[in-house]
Amino acid sequence: MTDILQTIKARDPEQNEFHQAVQEVLETVQPVLDRNPEYRQAAVLERVTEPERVIMFRVPWMDDQGQVKVNRGFRIQMNSAIGPYKGGLRFHPSVNLSILKFLAFEQVFKNALTTLSMGGGKGGSDFDPKGKSDNEVMRFCQSFMTELFRHIGPDTDIPAGDIGVGAREIGYLFGMYKRLKNEFTGVLTGKSLNWGGSLIRPEATGYGCVYFASEMLNVQGDSLEGKTCLVSGSGNVAQYTVEKIIEMGGKVVTLSDSSGYVYDEEGIDQEKLAFVMRLKNIRRGRISEYIDKYSEAVYTEADSTLEYNPLWNHKADCAFPSATQNEINGKDARNLVNNGVKLISEGANMPSAPEAVDFFLDHKLLYAPGKAANAGGVAVSGLEMAQNSMRLKWTREEVDERLQLIMKNIHKTCLEASAEYDMEGNYVAGANIGGFVKVVNAMLDQGLV
Ligand code: NDP
Repeated sequence: MTDILQTIKARDPEQNEFHQAVQEVLETVQPVLDRNPEYRQAAVLERVTEPERVIMFRVPWMDDQGQVKVNRGFRIQMNSAIGPYKGGLRFHPSVNLSILKFLAFEQVFKNALTTLSMGGGKGGSDFDPKGKSDNEVMRFCQSFMTELFRHIGPDTDIPAGDIGVGAREIGYLFGMYKRLKNEFTGVLTGKSLNWGGSLIRPEATGYGCVYFASEMLNVQGDSLEGKTCLVSGSGNVAQYTVEKIIEMGGKVVTLSDSSGYVYDEEGIDQEKLAFVMRLKNIRRGRISEYIDKYSEAVYTEADSTLEYNPLWNHKADCAFPSATQNEINGKDARNLVNNGVKLISEGANMPSAPEAVDFFLDHKLLYAPGKAANAGGVAVSGLEMAQNSMRLKWTREEVDERLQLIMKNIHKTCLEASAEYDMEGNYVAGANIGGFVKVVNAMLDQGLV
């Protein structure tokens, strides 16, 4: 096991996020390998940690001043054992091979947990949509798709959104794909409702993350009613996490972006959330503007010299990290527990650093890792693909019901898989084992390919 990790590190020494994601999975699937020697014989670990294909390309585009800019585009086609590659596109200046490989690797197991037939992939660019005009974003998306289109397709690889890629970007990407291929197919998910999108897709990740939290609390005979919750981020996942928490009777007191966070002791209600949605999705403003409208709240600017994030240092019962990877370090984890937090449900991918994860597990928190808790987004993407193939549209209630059932089943799979290997209640082990077994069994069935 350590040999495999060492080989991976030696091969790509700078890919820290990828090493982190692989290490966590390798540690928890050890007992599965001990019980099933055929997995070792077939070198499943070596195979599952190496992408089937990595595509990297130049994305030239022109800004509004007529200057030519060049960004880098990527698509990681990680594993197609149980279905076509499926996973989002991220546009953010931090994007590199390490981050996309970690996301693609996580995606493989997450998609397997949904029970839908989807392999895992991820892609994106170091392009930053922040501060760009609509025309600049459109030109970038068109150039990006001019290369990506030859590698994707409704039965090959179906990208979706992620950080920096929302409905606007999906629209521009889809328009260019359609023009190049002369085909109207479900090659991207997260499409707008009137041209192939699914109801509940924008809500799915946030809603699913709260449904998962509610399942964890149910097992303890508890619910979200009356719980104070910390939420980070203020994008797609954060917004619908807040909406569902309010609906279930909880109180959300924080939201953030990369510049800082707001703390609203009275709680962010429906009206305040509607303001945030307009601010972020239409005006594309900063979360600091929240206090101009709601002066009872306090805004704290992000300070990278601090050893901890003050957002995680408020009295609360539950936390829903919904911004980005490694946003909770060991100190934040201690602060959360000292402030009374008993449940963490991850909307973001890998938001907790390894020392934070260890701390949560040691302190027996109800801790749901992203690959289980945020799988609702890709699950409803799978439902969007199904509706596209059938040329049908399900109602809001129908999709939401399926989403709830899928989250319930993922929760059950995690509990059962952790119990089978004597780690009952360890959702990290449960999610990794549940996803891993399904994927590697399919790989074994398909021979050495
Ligand atoms: P959005 O782009 O809609 O929102 C991201 C939010 O996180 C913004 O508020 C952004 O602030 C903040 N953020 C991003 N990067 C950083 C950073 N480095 N430091 C501090 N804050 C940051 O993305 P999503 O809501 O779609 O995604 C959020 C997380 O959820 C990601 O980890 C993503 O991989 C994960 N996820 C998303 C799914 C989806 O369906 N969209 C599905 C499953 C997981 P700012 O605007 O200032 O950058």
